[in-house]
Amino acid sequence: MRAQALHPDVLLLTSAVLAVNCVVVRATLQEPAGEGEAFVIDSPVLPEELDSLPGLLEQAGFPEPDGLLATHGDWDHLLGRLAFPGLALGCAESTLSRLQARPGEAQRGLRDFDEDLMIERPGPLALGSLQGLPVPGRLDIADRELELHPTGGHTEDGMAVLIGWAGVLVAGDYLSASEIPSIHDHGGLDAYAETLERLRPLVERCEHVIPGHGPLLDRERASSVLDEDVGYLQRLREQGSQAQLPEGRRGRVQRRLHAQNVAGLGSAQ
Ligand SMILES: [Zn+2]
Repeated sequence: MRAQALHPDVLLLTSAVLAVNCVVVRATLQEPAGEGEAFVIDSPVLPEELDSLPGLLEQAGFPEPDGLLATHGDWDHLLGRLAFPGLALGCAESTLSRLQARPGEAQRGLRDFDEDLMIERPGPLALGSLQGLPVPGRLDIADRELELHPTGGHTEDGMAVLIGWAGVLVAGDYLSASEIPSIHDHGGLDAYAETLERLRPLVERCEHVIPGHGPLLDRERASSVLDEDVGYLQRLREQGSQAQLPEGRRGRVQRRLHAQNVAGLGSAQ
């Protein structure tokens, strides 16, 4: 797992598998000095990465986290409870509905992944206490606020988290420089395009953009990924399977995602 400090209050942890990004954010109070709050957004994937998380935060001088947040309900973003079993998991109300409507989906996703990679875990994933957050909305953290913005299209649920004072956007599974847009198959194309337009002004306000998977982006690179993705969605709509993939994202796995996107278009009609 790779750790990078993006700001005194923001730590980026990138899992060695799937390049999943986990972000830890804290805010410190002036009075009483030194006290504050912290949240862990999304999660690394490997058991040893999750085990090392509490110690790593302590070493970095971060307070013990007060809660977990998930950008969306895909299993690879929901593993925070394996590192911090006592904490509640906050998510968009759209994610809460999804998790309640499809119980066991995350556990199955994790189990299949672990089976494929022969990963052993001490116990099953329990999502524990879930808290649906109004999105768009704001979440208090010490004397600061996180902005929560709705996302959709990759899945039907989700939120992006803007850490305004640090100039960091945690985008969820959007704006990845290594993955093409992966679209949920029921009307996801329009929702995805709308999400990108909603993210555009947020990107403009940030120094750093963190996608769910793949490298950290500066504002300029994030804007160009956004434009490339808008272009890809337009071609996908007009040309279907013939649509050209964004440059630098044309490998085998990306072509497979593209084929899934094309198949999804068919099922939406
Ligand atoms: Zn993901």
